[in-house]
Amino acid sequence: MSQFLPLGKFSFGMGDRFAHQSKAQLRACIRATELGALFVPVWNKSNREHTFVGSDPSSTRAAADAAVRELGWNKPYHVDADHIRLETVDRFIPHSDFYTIDVADSIGKPASAADVETFVDRHPELVGTISIPHIDPPFAITRAEVERVANKFLLAAQDAGKIYQHIVKAKGAANFITEVSMDETDSPQTPPELLIILAAIANQKIPIQTVAPKFTGRFNKGVDYVGDVKQFEKEFNEDLAVIAFAVKKYGLPASLKLSVHSGSDKFSIYEPMRRALKKFDAGVHIKTAGTTWLEELIGLAEAGGDGLEIVKEIYASAIEQVDELCVPYATVIDIDRAKLPGAAVVNDWSSHQFVSALRHDQKCKDYNPSFRQLLHISFKVAAQKGDRYLNALKKHEAVVAKNVTENLFERHMKPLLLGQAKTPQAICSPRCETVPA
Ligand SMILES: [Zn+2]
Repeated sequence: MSQFLPLGKFSFGMGDRFAHQSKAQLRACIRATELGALFVPVWNKSNREHTFVGSDPSSTRAAADAAVRELGWNKPYHVDADHIRLETVDRFIPHSDFYTIDVADSIGKPASAADVETFVDRHPELVGTISIPHIDPPFAITRAEVERVANKFLLAAQDAGKIYQHIVKAKGAANFITEVSMDETDSPQTPPELLIILAAIANQKIPIQTVAPKFTGRFNKGVDYVGDVKQFEKEFNEDLAVIAFAVKKYGLPASLKLSVHSGSDKFSIYEPMRRALKKFDAGVHIKTAGTTWLEELIGLAEAGGDGLEIVKEIYASAIEQVDELCVPYATVIDIDRAKLPGAAVVNDWSSHQFVSALRHDQKCKDYNPSFRQLLHISFKVAAQKGDRYLNALKKHEAVVAKNVTENLFERHMKPLLLGQAKTPQAICSPRCETVPA
């Protein structure tokens, strides 16, 4: 296996769409570190996000470097070129040291018949009964099944190999971290499929350190997990077992771990994840993004005055363009249109009403997941406001930053590593009536 830039055991992916919250985000990592839980900060931004905002990958790097310098962070940190492909990777090369190679588009497209046969012949260990510690009963995989999985995923692994080599040429193997993502596809990958996929990735000599499968259940943007938590827990445990096994079997980096592209805020699976990570003494990369942009809106709404005014304007534009905004996110949102308040209604809201509807506090009776999801996918609308939006962020930095830090630390990092209650009371405003438990 070639050289690679090592990634720490626990790492936390954060999206900063307008490059104004890096410091507030880093403060959450600092607070977690003070409690003995080191999360390596990773700032991630996809090509799609850059395109919608009209930003360049250099801005993500500049914001990350500035935050690290100003807060004196002396531990590792990274900048993730999120969901890149061969066509989109180049502009990230000077600025990113973490590459999420997205092969979802190649899944299901068959590799050449000869390649499939070579793969199956090369891996007799994948056929039959495979005993993996902590997986009971053992996997029983037929040759036909290995062929089926190879037909579905081998081309994707080969594509990942091509993109990886492209980055190596441009950057040098020792200078970056490689993730392979398969989450943006239709069906989840089962743990036996993950094993076969890792064998194919190892054949490509990719020193993969994080792998993002699609897990069972729905990972809608900005709202909690929807699905069978027990089934998720079972598969998450089995995935961890498969990874530990594949690391040894195929000589993959010992730092290889799961990357959970959470779509933000999957609170109900944090506790099962925490238990499983502890059991396997495994690390994890948790990727969030839009949760921070929503905290910007919450902070601005809380600030009142022109802050509240601009978030109301953003909502009014979002509701007008709802169809168009939903298109790119159709598979990762469940917005109940009937639950979306009209622009005129929202226009009359107080700070508190806006914040209560938006803040991800499931105990609050006014929390509105449809409202939250629509705003999650509406950052493009804020980008269209240009300097007015950025100036509002600067003017109300204190209240925005407080919300950004508190959200990442209290709702995400604490439950993941320290096992605290999933929605800490202190976050809900005292004036907010909560639903009785
Ligand atoms: Zn993803």
